[in-house]
Amino acid sequence: MPASSHPPVTVLAGPTAVGKGTVSTYIRDHYPEVWLSVSATTRDPRPGEQDGVHYFFVGPQAFDELVGAGDMLEWAVVHGRNRYGTIRTKVEEAVAAGRRVLLEIDLQGARQVKESLPEAKFVFLAPPSWEELVRRLIGRGTESEEEQQRRLDTAKLELAAESEFDVTIVNDDIRRAADELVSQMGLTPHER
Ligand code: 5GP
Repeated sequence: MPASSHPPVTVLAGPTAVGKGTVSTYIRDHYPEVWLSVSATTRDPRPGEQDGVHYFFVGPQAFDELVGAGDMLEWAVVHGRNRYGTIRTKVEEAVAAGRRVLLEIDLQGARQVKESLPEAKFVFLAPPSWEELVRRLIGRGTESEEEQQRRLDTAKLELAAESEFDVTIVNDDIRRAADELVSQMGLTPHER
């Protein structure tokens, strides 16, 4: 497939704290023409999160069954704690229905999708600068120095993955980054 074409599936990944979740929430709220994949997760819902909208909140056993049945397009343990995965049949159905599909997943998951669906478009969401990522990562000042250092080390490794992606979008502004992402998906950003 030529690099300039728009495959049906786009994968959005990037370092921790870059704002992937915020950009994908913006897309869910403003671009209903994008089919945003709802992942399964073993973590508990946060206040305001709805089952089937933000995630499918499944227990560890149901997650095991999905993995065992080969129903996960990819899955990973994220932040060393909970499991998250993309449900294969739902993605396939959306593609078959002609939808533009967006997966917002972590780097480990993006690498797995690259193995199983190499024709997808891989978009790396990058911070405007290293200093800004540091600010977003440790900005609240609530973590211990050790935890902060651990996060910074992880972020360095994650930033080094940029070259594995087809396109980089800088998250300097949520709306601008979301508009650039939908353009990359072959859709027209909305006039405002
Ligand atoms: P949160 O728990 O804050 O909603 O998400 C934590 C992390 O899990 C984010 O980095 C997000 O990209 C990642 N994530 C969410 N869904 C999936 C998924 O289906 N697969 C993978 N590999 N990561 C996911």
